[in-house]
Amino acid sequence: MRRRTDDALRTPGRHGPALVSDYRGVICDLDGVVYRSGRDIAGAIDALNRVVRSRRSIVFATNNASREPSTIGAHLQELGLVDGPWSVATSADVAAHHLAALVPPGSPVLAVGGPGVAAALDGVGLISVRVGDPAAGSVVAVVQGLGHEVTWRELAEVGYLARAGVPWVATNLDPAVPTDRGVAPGNGALVKVVETVAGVAPRSVGKPEPGFFATAQRMLGTPLEQTLLCGDRLDTDIAGARAAGIDSLLVLSGITDLQALASAPTSLRPTFVAPDLGGLVAPARRLLPARDEAIRLADGVPHAADVTDRQRVLEWVVMTSWAVVDSGGQLSDRGEPWRALARQLALP
Ligand SMILES: [Mg+2]
Repeated sequence: MRRRTDDALRTPGRHGPALVSDYRGVICDLDGVVYRSGRDIAGAIDALNRVVRSRRSIVFATNNASREPSTIGAHLQELGLVDGPWSVATSADVAAHHLAALVPPGSPVLAVGGPGVAAALDGVGLISVRVGDPAAGSVVAVVQGLGHEVTWRELAEVGYLARAGVPWVATNLDPAVPTDRGVAPGNGALVKVVETVAGVAPRSVGKPEPGFFATAQRMLGTPLEQTLLCGDRLDTDIAGARAAGIDSLLVLSGITDLQALASAPTSLRPTFVAPDLGGLVAPARRLLPARDEAIRLADGVPHAADVTDRQRVLEWVVMTSWAVVDSGGQLSDRGEPWRALARQLALP
C-alpha cells in the first residue's frame, strides 16, 4: 500500500513514514497503553493527538467495564487529548447489546461492577438492578464487570443465579489490570472466584471475542486492512486482532514484558512492537521470525552491542527470539537477563 505523507505525523530529523500512516483507523486499548492507574503514560497523549490531527479515527476500546464511556472520554480530555474523530467503547456496552438481543426490552438484569456496567444496561433499554434492590429477586440475567467496590455479597449472588441457570455474562476475563504498584485483580480473577464455587462458566464478550472487535470496527467505519489495533496484552488485544484479521501494535508499557513477547507462540504475535504509544508516529517494521548478525545470543538471551537505535534493536531482539523458538531452540526462562536487556533498551 502506498504510504501517505502527513504533516501531523512528520517528526523532524526522523526518516521514514510513521507506522500509523498506512492506516485510516485505530482501535486503541487504554489500561497499560494510554494510562496506568489513571495517570497518562509518557508520550501516549502526544502521539494520539498527532493521529487525531491527521484526521484518522480512533475508537478507544477497553475490556475495563468499570466506568462509563462519557467518564472515560472526559478523563482522556483532562489528560490533554484534543477533540476530533474519536470515541469510546467498553466491554460493558458489548455485554449490554449482547443481552438486549436475548431478553425482552425492560427486563431487569443484575449489574455487578462499576457504574459503567449499570449505565450500559440502562442505555440499551434494560433495567439495571443492584444486589439489595427489591427487584434483585426477579432478574433474568446477570452481567459481571470490573468494579473497585465489588463485594463478597455480590459475588455470592452471581454464583447463586449462575447455578440456578440464569444467563451470566462476563464483560471480560482479563485476570489482572496494571496499576502503578504492579498488577491488581482484573474481572477475570473475580469471575474465577464465582466459577470455582458455582461450577459453571459465564459467556464472556470482551477482547479477544470477535464480537468486541466487530463493534469497534463498526464504530470506526474503516476496512479491516486499514485498521490498526494498539494494545498491551497478548492474550486479549493481540489474539483478538489476529482472529479478526487486523494488524496490531504491541506496546511494552503495560502487562506484557519483553520476555513474554520474545517467547510468544505464533497465534499471539503482534505485527509491530514499540516501547510505548509513541511508536504509532514513528517508523516501524513488520515483525517476522528472522536472525540479524548484529544480535548475538548468550545463554538463551539476545544481546546487541550497539543500542543507539533502540526501536530497531527491539524489533531485532523480538524477531531473533521468534526465529530461535521456531527452529526448536531454547530461550532463557530466567527473568533477570531479560529485565537487564529491557533496562538496556530503556523500556518502560
Ligand atoms: Mg490494556
